[in-house]
Amino acid sequence: MMSKWETYDDFMYEHLSLTHDICKRCITVNQEAVSNLAFDLWNHAKEFATRSHTTLVFDCCYIVGNATGNKVSVPLLQNISADVFDGRRIKAMATYENKDRWFLSPKGKEVIMHILQGNETLYHDVVSRWMDDESIDITGEVSEHWCEPCGVRNVSGQHRLDIMDEIVKPILMCPTCMKWEWDEQGV
Ligand SMILES: [Zn+2]
Repeated sequence: MMSKWETYDDFMYEHLSLTHDICKRCITVNQEAVSNLAFDLWNHAKEFATRSHTTLVFDCCYIVGNATGNKVSVPLLQNISADVFDGRRIKAMATYENKDRWFLSPKGKEVIMHILQGNETLYHDVVSRWMDDESIDITGEVSEHWCEPCGVRNVSGQHRLDIMDEIVKPILMCPTCMKWEWDEQGV
């Protein structure tokens, strides 16, 4: 079988570069560290995930981005892939021919939880919209801060573990897209 890459290092470098390129376009908080973690997750997940290597990079940027207070959406990643791959729109977190979603499998959960320092709440925030018993807690006080993509007010009052700083910090959650960001005023 012919390979696109001369060496394993070339193969790894191409996917590392792609990860950095994507994160540069959608990660605003801790971009460098998020990018490295996303690549770390890809490196583990590529051993078993039912995804192409390229598509899996987008999944990993989505997962680590949203677990670190970056509101990365599937449509945003589709636009980024169209920019990077000449119009090709890659849908993150999708399935291929009704295969099980790798990130919901026991093995998938294990590697994601490892990246997220064992924090189940962060895992749940990211993947629960693809679970049958979808339930994201959006309780809190209506804040003065708006979710930019949605144009609605975020709610405040919840907290999440910041895996970069290893401290628990207040968040602002959007009742429409169910994503959250760090509440800098609440610190
Ligand atoms: Zn929103």
